[in-house]
Amino acid sequence: MAELCEVDEPFIYRLNDNGSGPSLLVKVCSERGWRIYQGYNGCVEERWNLWWRTSAFPAASYKTLGDWQFMNHIPKGGSICRKDSLSRLLRCMRRIYGSIYEFSPPCFHLPLEYAKLVAECSRLRHEQDGAVWIHKPVAQSQGRGIFLFRSICEMRCGSAAVVQRYIERPLLIAGYKFDLRLYVCVPGYRPLTAYMYAEGLARFGTDKYTLSDIHNPYRHLTNSSLNKTGPRYAECKDRIGSGCKWTLKQVRRALVGRWEATEWLVWQRIRALVTLTLLAQATGTPPARNCFEFYGFDVLLDDALKPWLLEVNLSPALAADCEADVTVKRPMLHELFDLLGLPMRHTGLSLLQGPPATHINSASSDSCDSTVRTVQRPRTSVPSAGRQRPLRRRRAMPIHCVTLQAPSLDKDTESNDKGKYANSGSPSSTSTSSGSPEESDCQSTPSLATPSTEDESWRGGHATAASRRRMINACSWGNGVRWERAPARVGQWVRIYPHTLPDNEIQIEEVRESVANVSKFVRAAREVARENARDARAPRDSTRDADFEATLRKKLAYGPNFEVWLPPV
Ligand code: ADP
Repeated sequence: MAELCEVDEPFIYRLNDNGSGPSLLVKVCSERGWRIYQGYNGCVEERWNLWWRTSAFPAASYKTLGDWQFMNHIPKGGSICRKDSLSRLLRCMRRIYGSIYEFSPPCFHLPLEYAKLVAECSRLRHEQDGAVWIHKPVAQSQGRGIFLFRSICEMRCGSAAVVQRYIERPLLIAGYKFDLRLYVCVPGYRPLTAYMYAEGLARFGTDKYTLSDIHNPYRHLTNSSLNKTGPRYAECKDRIGSGCKWTLKQVRRALVGRWEATEWLVWQRIRALVTLTLLAQATGTPPARNCFEFYGFDVLLDDALKPWLLEVNLSPALAADCEADVTVKRPMLHELFDLLGLPMRHTGLSLLQGPPATHINSASSDSCDSTVRTVQRPRTSVPSAGRQRPLRRRRAMPIHCVTLQAPSLDKDTESNDKGKYANSGSPSSTSTSSGSPEESDCQSTPSLATPSTEDESWRGGHATAASRRRMINACSWGNGVRWERAPARVGQWVRIYPHTLPDNEIQIEEVRESVANVSKFVRAAREVARENARDARAPRDSTRDADFEATLRKKLAYGPNFEVWLPPV
């Protein structure tokens, strides 16, 4: 029987293994009224709702995850976050799917491919008068251990590394090199659901770019952790200003006049690049629920406006070093939690025991929801948080609140869910490695998570409706968010995959089908940009974006559920 549920318990967040974490994340969590977890220092505290860890989780943590608990990594979701395994995955996809995967610079793995690198270097020396290469240690970040060279004899060998062709002609603004940091959220790989945040950052080198001095890191590396320490960081630089970061909005404004329709197209190509990269590891991830990945994609534009993927960060930096950081990251984190259905203040442990609901509404107004919540309790009890509670009236929810809608679930889904996933334990607190409290980007260490024997079925396809349904059920979130009905946009998070959702069909595409869809998307976007360039009467002002979106939607025969991803302008 349905009964009213107490919903006033605070939402509890847990940071790494020692309570320390990025300052901006702590700020956002406390702005949402969440309470910090108290169970560090050996005192076992089972009650928490969100565990945010800089590094990967031990595999056991996923097995004991309760309906009301969420974690910021997906089992095996970090394969694209190590430089060597990213390059291997993309190489493999390029072999299968061809040129659509040509967005990462040619790469050699050391020490294994040293001989091949030597051969390629000498071939290029004869053809091109000395190409430039960049040497990057595989398990490091923030520009550490990176150097450029022209001749193989200049290369210092050390730990495992990748050597990549250096993009010698990057797009410059006022003579400075920059790369883009894009924020991507994946709440599930089965089926792949991916969102990209409309805002992001551009990170500049702090010395003017030139190939005649390849050993000055401030000209060639755009890591802000490095440039912060550069001699010209605080100087007011031509057009760039002081510091080394812009928002994507500033970048768009700098590009739009000069590049017209091509500028719009480049963002569509970036969207495709991100989706294709995620697809490269999609088949390697087991079904998972209540966990998500929050990636930082680093993309470099060359002087023909072609986007190149440099790397993917498992835990993108959430420090607030400058104004651009705060402008972008603070609303981005709030809206990330809105997207994931992790609400403000009052939906702590008890509410999340409710069965899955149909969808979420993300409200961004001051309007308050003071209705009494009716939530049906699950049949299985949850020891750590399952005490019977007296009925209570819900308090007003502040801005950005997320309202879980009344449950409506077919029987099939419910019984399946409970049988397989309702679990009574709390996550193991025996994690081995302590997450780094640092606020800088983090690359992936080899994944600790392995699928359980029970999960082995995930390797199979989804040929039948029943197997598709089983997959959807296995990945259904305990807070009622249903990713197979993922909204096209929550705040500035735009769903980049799937492009569109059919009305009533469970959709799981095989990777081949997904790659074909991305390829179709890129072709259509190219046509839209080309037609606009030819049409003298086409709008050149701010109405252009809306026009492009409508044309693209029509070309692809997508409904209103499809949205173009574009930074603000
Ligand atoms: P890290 O993990 O240390 O940040 P990255 O792969 O992001 O390593 O490289 C650091 C910086 O070096 C990038 O931000 C970019 O400016 C530059 N860079 C890396 N690879 C290339 C490349 N192939 N071509 C041009 N610049 C590159």
